[in-house]
Amino acid sequence: MLTAIVGINWGDEGKGRMVDLLSKDFDIVARYQGGNNAGHTVVNDKGKFILNLLPSGILRDDTVNVMGQGMVIDVEHLYHEVKRITDAGIEITPDRLKISDRATICMPYHKQMDCLEEDRLGDAKFGSTRRGIAPVYADKYMKKSFRMGDLLHMDDVKRRMPAIIEWKNLTVHGGYKADEIEAEEMIKWLETYGLAFKDYICDTTEYLNNALDNGKTVIFEAQLGALRDIDFGIYPYTSSSNTIAAYAPIGAGIPGRKLSNTIGIMKAYSSCVGEGPFTCEMFGEEGDKLRTAGAEFGAATGRPRRVGGFDVPASKFGIMAQGADEIALTKLDVLSCFESIPVCVKYEVNGVETDKFPSGEDLVNAKPVYEYVPGWGCDISGCRSFSELPKAAQDYIIYLQEKVNAKIKYVSVGPGRDEYLVIE
Ligand code: GDP
Repeated sequence: MLTAIVGINWGDEGKGRMVDLLSKDFDIVARYQGGNNAGHTVVNDKGKFILNLLPSGILRDDTVNVMGQGMVIDVEHLYHEVKRITDAGIEITPDRLKISDRATICMPYHKQMDCLEEDRLGDAKFGSTRRGIAPVYADKYMKKSFRMGDLLHMDDVKRRMPAIIEWKNLTVHGGYKADEIEAEEMIKWLETYGLAFKDYICDTTEYLNNALDNGKTVIFEAQLGALRDIDFGIYPYTSSSNTIAAYAPIGAGIPGRKLSNTIGIMKAYSSCVGEGPFTCEMFGEEGDKLRTAGAEFGAATGRPRRVGGFDVPASKFGIMAQGADEIALTKLDVLSCFESIPVCVKYEVNGVETDKFPSGEDLVNAKPVYEYVPGWGCDISGCRSFSELPKAAQDYIIYLQEKVNAKIKYVSVGPGRDEYLVIE
């Protein structure tokens, strides 16, 4: 059984919380793309945790967690993230955490290049999280990266480092006029933070294939949503990797395996971090009310998120890109603050109404067409079945289901592990 849990929207849909919930029925949780540029927040009986790199199954004692080859790993960040979790009393051992020897290392100079470029762009900045993700993926495709498996051969790393640093300095020092990067410092950094994971690095392709042959079940955990996918998303305001479910077996390292099903995590309203077109955006008092009710501030960066009503064209497109079989609707409780709930049902592009999600300039020029549906105006966080929900909340779920033409199976009504209901 191979299940992908992926985002339908711009990210921050609550994927981490759904993986934490659903992973109880699975043996392994595997991350397949991205780095520490986004964060999952998970609240469970052990406390509240922000996970940037570690798969969300790390919070369950008997789940094995795989960091796949499609990931980019800042080992210094991972070092501190692991420390935070172990300090909270959760044990992390090589039996429970397996890091792909093919995963790419995100070096300090990648972070530096990200910052230098954002600063150079000034007002035209991309809204990068400044964690080095675009530069490290660029180097991966330039074939000038260090990979986690290289840490097991430090002599070779030391031999290759000067040539890579010479090349990096052409841009960092020669172009941006920043101080020269020192090869020795980079080696020291890898020795300090990278070697701490020596015992966790392995051939995760072999591990996962063997596990599946032995009947184990795997969840693929995505970071960010469909609309941030490098190919399908709102390019160039996308992430630098493929976030969609079709990439999950590749990024995890087992491309010969087919997904059994894909659960799309879709938020009951919209939120978006950073720059780029966000057609359904709500401003002023209405936006502030939604942002506060939903606590929409970035888990990785603390930045206030942009918010809007549920976006039908964007969500339908996200469901298509993910090939989602069923939907988990999250944060429905947040909409209790509205007497009538705004929903962006269509876009107006160059004077013409459409329910398609456009790309490029058409998306930039799109204007939202809003419809208002009745709210329920009361706390629903205690509801544990569809029938316990107020009629208006039931109607909202059915309305969304019809608009996006996909089955909503799970509804989450609070951040806690048990704050959800299943619609059979
Ligand atoms: P992810 O990256 O997709 O996992 O999403 P984030 O962790 O960035 O954002 C989801 C946030 O919403 C977290 O703080 C969760 O604890 C919280 N959350 C998840 N589901 C619900 C829900 O149903 N209701 C409420 N109120 N909060 C939720």
